[in-house]
Amino acid sequence: MNVDALIEKYPEVKTMQELKPFFWRNPDYGKKADLSIGIADVFDAEARFHRFAPYFEVAFPETVATHGILESPLIDLPYMKARLNKSFTNEIEGGLYLKADNYLPISGSIKSRGGIYEVLKFAEKVAIQEGGLIYEDNYAVLASKKYHDLFAKYGIAVGSTGNLGLSIGIVAQRLGFRTSVHMSADASQWKKDKLRSFGVNVVEYNDNFTHAITEARKSAAADPMTYFIDDEGSYDLFLGYSVAALRLQAQLKSQGIKVDKDHPLFVYLPAGVGGSPSGVTFGLKKVLGENAHAIFAEPTHIPSVTLGMVTGLNDKISVYDIGIDGTTKADGLAVGRASRIAGKNMRTLLLGTATFKDEDMMKDVVRLYETEKIGLEPSAAAGFTIMDQSLENLSADFPMKNANHIVWATGGSMVPKEDMDRYLEIGREELAK
Ligand SMILES: *Cc1c(COP(=O)(O)O)cnc(C)c1O
Repeated sequence: MNVDALIEKYPEVKTMQELKPFFWRNPDYGKKADLSIGIADVFDAEARFHRFAPYFEVAFPETVATHGILESPLIDLPYMKARLNKSFTNEIEGGLYLKADNYLPISGSIKSRGGIYEVLKFAEKVAIQEGGLIYEDNYAVLASKKYHDLFAKYGIAVGSTGNLGLSIGIVAQRLGFRTSVHMSADASQWKKDKLRSFGVNVVEYNDNFTHAITEARKSAAADPMTYFIDDEGSYDLFLGYSVAALRLQAQLKSQGIKVDKDHPLFVYLPAGVGGSPSGVTFGLKKVLGENAHAIFAEPTHIPSVTLGMVTGLNDKISVYDIGIDGTTKADGLAVGRASRIAGKNMRTLLLGTATFKDEDMMKDVVRLYETEKIGLEPSAAAGFTIMDQSLENLSADFPMKNANHIVWATGGSMVPKEDMDRYLEIGREELAK
């Protein structure tokens, strides 16, 4: 990698090397593009979730209240808005909301969308091909011994920094699959403990995510009966995430939140490998159209998707190539190389990205907790952390007075109290400085 030549062409690379927060406006945003997937694929994924709803009601009783559908609330944040406006240089004028995926059942994170979806898709295929399942069946039957024994012939493997492994591990193991989760060094201990309590085989590496997923891929390739869920390039994961847009559209309508030319919607999504924010953004652009705009948030120490998109190299470059260390307290974002499909699909659909300092993210964990009594894991607060610089960059081009802002809270409700207390302690120390 000739980094000097890269900097010559894209000065932002120098900014990234210097670990300075910045906002990148995507020059290709809104251009025409031919993508290999479309709205029909989003509806196909939504239909699959609905077929599995009776299964979830039986296998995961916590989903009975929502009739087996895994969905999170859209929460108005008036107190957080007031709190942020005290410290921001730019004012949040319209509404501020939290898309509270931290409350999603099973993993307490956005991975209950994509990760679980890919397991369901594989299970359905096996059940149809070898178990006589038909689409018209009541899928509660998949909780029976017959299907459990069928699924037990197969393995599922995944590499993860934590939450993807949690969502896939819990559902795959309960269906009956022999499940292995390969965890990078960033993964929290409680996530590994929880998975082991479900009987999942957790393989730990004292190394980064790229290493963990490479090992997971290798071990799956060695066993013809093991299915590998590829966080670096899976369209099934991507489409599982995209369903969020259909659900959000319904919530916006029922909560009277307009999205049109005079009421643009800005959605702030933290990015690790870029899969979950890209899937959601793809859905948003297909479902809500040109007045919904997505912005990704990444730590200054590990801006993998930003680096890939700025340079156009996407997954062909890693943050280590430009000599930065890739360390962050945001374990969900601790990925040095973007997925193969994130940058490619976001080229014309993503408004931009912004990078932030870990210290500032920890402050936002505290601010949200103190104003709205909602506890997030650090990664999930990142949307707040890039808002001020986003407003700065956008205000000249959009009618911000009636704009609405959604921060996508990607995880946190299952964080043990000791861990949450430690996050708050770190954030309070930062606020006191
Ligand atoms: C996985 C995750 C993300 C980022 O998702 P990617 O698909 O890796 O980009 C953000 N926040 C949390 C809490 C996550 O678990």
